[in-house]
Amino acid sequence: MSKSLPVMKMSRLYAPTLKEDPAEAELASHRLLLRAGMIRKQAAGLYSYLPLAWRSIQKIEQICREEMDAVGAQEMLAPILTDAALWEESGRIGAYGPELMRLEDRHGRTFCLGPTHEETFTDLVRNELRSYKQLPVTLYHIQDKFRDELRPRFGLMRSREFIMKDAYSFSATQESLSEVYEDMKGAYARYCERCGLKALPVAADSGEIGGDASVEYMALADAGEASLVWCDCGFAADDEAASTTVAVSEGPGDGTLQKVETPGLGTIEAVAAFFGFPENGTRKSLALIDGEGNPVVAIVPGDHELNDIKAAKLFGEYHLMTDEELEEYDLHKGFIGPVNLPQGIRLVCDESLKASTSWTCGANEVDYHFTGAQPGRDFTVDAWEDLVTVKPGDPCPHCGKPLKGGRGIECGQVFQIGPDKYAAKMGATFADENGREQPFYMGCYGIGISRTLAAVVEQHHDEHGIIWPVSVAPYEVSVIALDKKGEAFDAAAEIAAQLAEAGIEVVFDDRAERPGVKFADNDLMGFPYQVVVGKRGIRAGTVEVKDRATGERTDVALSDVVAHLSELVEAGRR
Ligand code: ATP
Ligand code: MG
Repeated sequence: MSKSLPVMKMSRLYAPTLKEDPAEAELASHRLLLRAGMIRKQAAGLYSYLPLAWRSIQKIEQICREEMDAVGAQEMLAPILTDAALWEESGRIGAYGPELMRLEDRHGRTFCLGPTHEETFTDLVRNELRSYKQLPVTLYHIQDKFRDELRPRFGLMRSREFIMKDAYSFSATQESLSEVYEDMKGAYARYCERCGLKALPVAADSGEIGGDASVEYMALADAGEASLVWCDCGFAADDEAASTTVAVSEGPGDGTLQKVETPGLGTIEAVAAFFGFPENGTRKSLALIDGEGNPVVAIVPGDHELNDIKAAKLFGEYHLMTDEELEEYDLHKGFIGPVNLPQGIRLVCDESLKASTSWTCGANEVDYHFTGAQPGRDFTVDAWEDLVTVKPGDPCPHCGKPLKGGRGIECGQVFQIGPDKYAAKMGATFADENGREQPFYMGCYGIGISRTLAAVVEQHHDEHGIIWPVSVAPYEVSVIALDKKGEAFDAAAEIAAQLAEAGIEVVFDDRAERPGVKFADNDLMGFPYQVVVGKRGIRAGTVEVKDRATGERTDVALSDVVAHLSELVEAGRR
């Protein structure tokens, strides 16, 4: 038997809705959370969560809490402020840069508003978690974090104060850390699923926090900042980081080297169209100056881009040649190629071109291309390297099937940090079986609670408003009275009371508004189920139940309303 709950009257609810789209909001989540009266901006990147949003946030936190507890993590609460001296100890005070918000106390001592809490937790355990017998230990808390983001934007997506769950694990060995890490990955996947998010675990660069292994949990949405490729076999990666052998087609011709006049055709598109060939059958040549000031020509399949991160790894701080530099090295924009390359220019080609023997490429002469150019025979490649940004449609590096592509919102990230980055630097050690002092093998695990709310809205909305999954909805059901008073109004109040009595979270739209206004507001706020109560229905003994997600309307007998909605809500609670 569920606990009886109070009914929230819409006439009393503090949810100042907006009729118009706020001009500053580009993303659906930002726009709809503002319009539904769920969040308000206080200053750049600082938001209040109004009552509806706060209810959803608390549900997201609770899902997170349950999943953390299920893998043995223990909840606690550390201070938001951290002594800057701890950041000096870890050496991160410089690395974090201006994102770290600092302040001075009355004694002139510097503190940081925690952007993340590795230092705090390492300091917490370093003198009191003493023996291998106590390990592993995982601690977490859910609290506000502060980052003075260069560009706070998109509402809750990238704010300067936001809610994060951060967990820290302390293990005696790498094996133990790996086990904790695997458990956490399971918890993160379940967290996303229970919040109603379609999310992918993506292998990540560990960035500022450091360490060996890291996975980001990416909620798929066009609004995401990350560009991803993935495959049904389970492979997923940031397109910048992914490597695969791109399928390339051979160019036109019979395999002999032919110089063809291509007047004014200085783009891949124009050359492909001229030969009536896919862009993939052409070769794209980019002239650059590497970090040491030396000229390089890099060649990739015509339909792919040179990947900046991979190129920077190979060429250092490189730049594409300016018009003056092109002239200096006797290269002609739009007509650069591997054959007859001027002396002294290094030729680096994408690995996927290695097996191709008939290249269509610039002739190093204005208005001419070659077809049928063959590496080894017609030119010498100095190095074959992985140069391209992987695209949807390229073969999956694991199974070969065509990759899918899309954008992702990072909702969480897990890291295996190991012993060096914090524990060793900050002298956080335990006594091992032989009584020797060893630094902890650490892991850290973050979830953006407030960003999750925005990600859920990105995945669940339509032109009328938000469509909350039941598990994170501010209220599960709204009861809409079509009449302002009288028998139908009283019946609506009664139904709302009965639903609440049965443990369903109910908002009762008792406002003296026209039905159209009520429908629009309820759609905007996105309660999963609406119970519409009107005079005609009541006389016939029925109400209409609308499923916000599908728009489907069902007439339900008054005597069945509670059972019907209990069943629907129970199924969605997860
Ligand atoms: P991003 O790359 O988006 O800046 P991050 O990798 O720096 O994020 P982490 O240090 O991994 O972030 O923090 C853990 C989680 O906190 C992130 O996965 C994200 O969900 C959330 N988060 C980070 N920065 C913000 C922010 N400015 N506003 C809201 N949520 C944030
Ligand atoms: Mg991250």
